[in-house]
Amino acid sequence: MADVQVRSDRLLKRLMKRTNTFAVQPLSDDGEQLLRDLLDASAALWNEINYQRLMRYNDEDGFEGDVWDADTGALEGKYKGVLGASTAQQVIRKNSEAWCGFFDTKNKYHDESNTSVTEHPKPPGFRGNEDDGRQLKTVIRNTSYTVEWGERSRLEILVGSELKDRYDHTGRLRLEIAGDPNWPDYEKQGRLDLWYDETDSTFRASQPVTITDARDTPLADETAALDIGANNLVACTTTTGEQYLYEGRELFQRFRETTREIARLQSKLEDGRYSSERIRRLYRKRTRRRDHAQEALCRDLLERLYADGVDAVYIGGLTDVLETHWSVETNAKTHNFWAFKQFTDRLACTAEEYGISVEVRSEAWTSQECPQCGSTDRTTRHKDTLTCPCSFEGHADLTASETFLRRHQNSGSFDWRMRREASRQRHTEKAVRPMARPVSSEIGDFRDAENAQRFRARFEWDDHEWSESPRSHRPKEQRTDPSTVHRNGNVASGES
Ligand SMILES: [Zn+2]
Repeated sequence: MADVQVRSDRLLKRLMKRTNTFAVQPLSDDGEQLLRDLLDASAALWNEINYQRLMRYNDEDGFEGDVWDADTGALEGKYKGVLGASTAQQVIRKNSEAWCGFFDTKNKYHDESNTSVTEHPKPPGFRGNEDDGRQLKTVIRNTSYTVEWGERSRLEILVGSELKDRYDHTGRLRLEIAGDPNWPDYEKQGRLDLWYDETDSTFRASQPVTITDARDTPLADETAALDIGANNLVACTTTTGEQYLYEGRELFQRFRETTREIARLQSKLEDGRYSSERIRRLYRKRTRRRDHAQEALCRDLLERLYADGVDAVYIGGLTDVLETHWSVETNAKTHNFWAFKQFTDRLACTAEEYGISVEVRSEAWTSQECPQCGSTDRTTRHKDTLTCPCSFEGHADLTASETFLRRHQNSGSFDWRMRREASRQRHTEKAVRPMARPVSSEIGDFRDAENAQRFRARFEWDDHEWSESPRSHRPKEQRTDPSTVHRNGNVASGES
């Protein structure tokens, strides 16, 4: 019955929204100047319409009506020569959407039954300012650009006739695309965002696309539990006995350095100023770095889980942590830096591609619980190590994910070795990822025999990818002792 349900589910064709983000490069100096003019004029148009609306919102003298009474037609007429009519319309429309979003959030703020908005929202802002210049940015209608993916991928965008005359250009402006898209095959494309990223002097574009369901089907029905934290971003245990640890210290260190620099710059601002282009740039840089690492982590982890045959992932919610033993600093750390909600959303989206379900469970926190004797008040955590007078000693976050996993096991017990064997066979069959990984020394902080059987991988972020650290632990297969009794008291496979 359940099986039939799953099968018919698989046949359903679903449409999903995704986004391709890529860097683009003009082909000549003239091309670059033209592009800059286009982006600058778009920002100028945005600022003009936004000014018209803000003045009306603030009831300034000389501005009649509400924000929707601003004369968008006149502005479109003024800018369509440079931008092309469709782009002028898109910029105005995007500004309208920003105002709609603002009003919507404001309503939620004033609605007492709605607790999702706790700070009074600010009206849409301007693109840049007088001191630092405008932020180069535009938005292009889905029919006003084309993308060709291939060995030499390229983007072509519509430009206004005045710009063409200015640069003696004909047709659309062609830009070279760097890198490969995540979603090269799609049903249709949406409105393109195109901007200049000052943090690394690069033009970038994001292209929303609608794709048909490309979900994989899980290879088995294994489960994984994640513990999300600040020092170790993710600690994961699966029912096949694999453990994965993604280290976040260095990443956080850099996040904190940037935050300090922002604070330093803010303290030097003149009275009445709250930000500067330099500060905004640092914020953007900080966010982008985190998002990149998060995205890569989701991808890396889910590929591994998929290969392990996992079809369900449980994430330990952080709600309870906040009131218990985590320090204020750790909480701030996790919230600002890791953006828990954003991370779980991202994880769920990536998991969807693999057909893996994600569930956030916020219940009694497991991080202090001894897996050996069940005590929660006798254990001590020092840095990454959890110790208990009963002789247990282990990695605190990995242990937490393991305890968490055990709680959500339907069967109540699971047999690591048997499942691992099945999982390994799947790996071999599918050759999902290279099995030749660096041979590594054991981590010193594991004692019990069962732990020694387990595959435990640590990953470090190097700004581009998560790679396995030499501190990973790979059990030697010949050491497998079938008589090892599971901590729960259940006898492992090979025994009865
Ligand atoms: Zn204990």
